[in-house]
Amino acid sequence: MKISLFSKQEVKFRLTHMCHNCGKFSLMPHYFKGDGTKISHGKVAKIAQIAHLKSIGQFFSKSKDESSVSELSGVLAKCPKCATKWPVFSGGKLPETLKQPYQEIKETHRSEEEIGSEKREIDNSKSRIELERRFTVTKEWSKSFVIEEEKGRKTGAELSVGLSEATSIKAAAEEAIKFKYIRTEDTKQIYTEEIVLKVPANTKLLVVFNWKRIWQHGIITLHDERSGVSEWPFKLVVGITFDQTQVDQP
Ligand SMILES: [Zn+2]
Repeated sequence: MKISLFSKQEVKFRLTHMCHNCGKFSLMPHYFKGDGTKISHGKVAKIAQIAHLKSIGQFFSKSKDESSVSELSGVLAKCPKCATKWPVFSGGKLPETLKQPYQEIKETHRSEEEIGSEKREIDNSKSRIELERRFTVTKEWSKSFVIEEEKGRKTGAELSVGLSEATSIKAAAEEAIKFKYIRTEDTKQIYTEEIVLKVPANTKLLVVFNWKRIWQHGIITLHDERSGVSEWPFKLVVGITFDQTQVDQP
């Protein structure tokens, strides 16, 4: 009987390049040692090779060698797409702190926040005919979100976790929001819209664009084995828009 050196999640990844959690394709997972330090793919291959040789050696010598067991069981892989972690070697265990809590995201309402204005003046005061002016308004914005921590609360029993645990719960909430809404390192977005303005004869027009950020509000609920159920309100920038006002200038 052949026993796999690798965990079933790692075997699946190596065969299909697909994460067992999100099903997305990546060439390689990220690898970490038990203490959290990043290790290269080559290093993982080396550990595997040594473990393999040792297992053959054990077969012949029947001597028990536990020296590599702790090193092996601590090696973790992390999906670059959804950040789920799994043990690389069979018999490896995910430390309690890395277990992904079950999570649920509920969107509530949207709100707008004013972020400044821009003015443009179109002078048609010396003309006797109507002027049609076409121009493009452009503004850069970035996908970002805020966990409104002070509003975070535990439902049911009281939230009585230590600081480091609270930090890891918050980090899990952040990863879940990033995975659902952002998924990319490049968060920059460009908003463009073409505007056509008609300026009557003998008129100077002042156009004011009042830019607004659109926030989607929601609540992420985490169900964690140890700390129970907690709710984290968040808001996320989903776009920008503007109001346009125009005033005839004297
Ligand atoms: Zn994944």
